Amino acid sequence: MIRIPQLKLKIHHTEMELKQAVKKELRLSHDNFQYTIKKRSIDARKKQELHYVYAVDVSVADKEEQRILAKAKGKLLPAPKEDYTYQPCGTVPLHKRPVIIGAGPAGLFCAYFLAEHGYAPIVIERGEPMEERVKRVEAFWNGGTLNTESNVQFGEGGAGTFSDGKLNTMVKDPSGRIRKVLEIFVEHGAPEEILYLNKPHIGTDNLRHVIVSMRKQMIAQGAEFLFSSKVTDVLLKEDGTLKGVEINGSTTIESDIVVAALGHRARDTFEMLVKKPLTIENKAFAIGVRMEHPQEMIGRSQYGDAYKELPAADYKLTHQCASGRGVYSFCMCPGGFVVNASSEEGRTVVNGMSNHDRSEKNANSALIVTVTPEDFQSEGFTGPLAGMQFQRRWEEAAYCAGNGKIPIQLFGDLLRGEKSVTIGEIVPNTKGAYVLADLRECLPEYVLDSLKEGIQAFDKKIPGFAREDAVLLGVETRTSSPVRIVRGTDFQSDIRGFYPCGEGAGYAGGITSAAVDGIKVFEAITSVYSKNRG
Ligand SMILES: Cc1cc2nc3c(=O)[nH]c(=O)nc-3n(C[C@H](O)[C@H](O)[C@H](O)COP(=O)(O)OP(=O)(O)OC[C@H]3O[C@@H](n4cnc5c(N)ncnc54)[C@H](O)[C@@H]3O)c2cc1C
Repeated sequence: MIRIPQLKLKIHHTEMELKQAVKKELRLSHDNFQYTIKKRSIDARKKQELHYVYAVDVSVADKEEQRILAKAKGKLLPAPKEDYTYQPCGTVPLHKRPVIIGAGPAGLFCAYFLAEHGYAPIVIERGEPMEERVKRVEAFWNGGTLNTESNVQFGEGGAGTFSDGKLNTMVKDPSGRIRKVLEIFVEHGAPEEILYLNKPHIGTDNLRHVIVSMRKQMIAQGAEFLFSSKVTDVLLKEDGTLKGVEINGSTTIESDIVVAALGHRARDTFEMLVKKPLTIENKAFAIGVRMEHPQEMIGRSQYGDAYKELPAADYKLTHQCASGRGVYSFCMCPGGFVVNASSEEGRTVVNGMSNHDRSEKNANSALIVTVTPEDFQSEGFTGPLAGMQFQRRWEEAAYCAGNGKIPIQLFGDLLRGEKSVTIGEIVPNTKGAYVLADLRECLPEYVLDSLKEGIQAFDKKIPGFAREDAVLLGVETRTSSPVRIVRGTDFQSDIRGFYPCGEGAGYAGGITSAAVDGIKVFEAITSVYSKNRG
């Protein structure tokens, strides 16, 4: 297989033109070859002449491959191997079935591989299975009460279920784990394009079916799922070794292995864990707002007039403020909704979500500013959960400012220091009600100052970004974990057999990296333990 790293074709090209370009690049005189697209990105540097840039793997006869590679003198290379090849090799018998706390991407992928290799894991999830969870969340958005156990943050699929389903991938994937995650998503119904698009995304609509299909396969392979089951305690034996977990304050499940794939929103669980013999540290993260603009404005700015013929455009922006703080866009959702993603009574938090077609009128993105343990301390919060307390403080302020609804303010009003009293041309596209408010009540002054400076700087990159009627929605506080549960090179914490995993443990940031961390923990477990019961 030969990798052509770059083939540039105009965006209106046909399949035949791509095939011809492959043929020309390899100087083939026949059509006896097959190709697979490995990557496709858009080159929008010249707006009058947009191109797709492809990386393509081509298979030809062996002898011909050697001849082509020799002639190319390093310009073409053999396609890198991307297969995921790990096989469990542990020999220590497990006395009990492995337990996984959390059915988010980290927990699900760890369980998926354990189930596939005969380890029959038990997955414990505080929220509901997908079908009920979706109804529960829709009811909340339509004015119903918040269920603190099953919501946008908690339940089957984890925090990414009501999302854009962006699958941010790192450029290099020598272990093949990222590729494997994408392949599993496709096997369970995600669009095949995620295997080659430069910035793949599944969309909340597809993701919901994919997760259910994965669960059904795991159950068929011997896994068990316990929903509406919150782990309320981690149980230790008298000698301090792991005994198992307590569920809903009553039932006990014993196990030698507990994977804690909790996500970073399970604050009550962190409060329980902090009392255990674990090393938990607080860490910097970022807070700010969601901001909405017309998708058309973003499209035009990124692609010129051709934006209508291309997938909904995104952006990534960063700015270093005079104060030294960084402002950046995060989790941008083209053609999407801003969602009320609250999970605690009396606290409001927002996030973004899109369907696969990203066809909604508004683009939205988090615009956030880094905050550090020094900032938490300056507000009187110390200890390992200081960052979490800091988040709560501002989420409570947002709840008060919006009286339970999403508080919104126009950018022009924020600049003038006035509460918004009317919206402009941009109509907020939210899941969950919103109310005009004053966001100065919901964020620290240094965050607001940084946002004002950053947004005006972004206007130079995307004209109209700082327009008067651009909508700011509060607050974005759950951008990454405020804690890290320290684990060693064997992936275990200070409690042997207790494996912190995924975003909540501080080892991932997003769906793909959480899933990959789940696979790493599976490898760590099965490199020691065999599936045979002792
Ligand atoms: C609205 C929204 C949009 C997002 N969009 C994107 C995106 O487009 N792309 C992207 O890469 N990332 C996105 N993210 C972030 C992404 O969802 C997370 O990074 C990812 O889900 C982390 O995976 P995880 O498995 O580590 O944790 P989580 O997904 O948070 O899963 C943890 C699970 O553990 C369960 N749990 C917690 N405590 C307990 C307990 N005590 N007992 C039992 N169960 C428990 C929770 O209910 C939850 O289901 C988004 C997040 C949100 C909220």
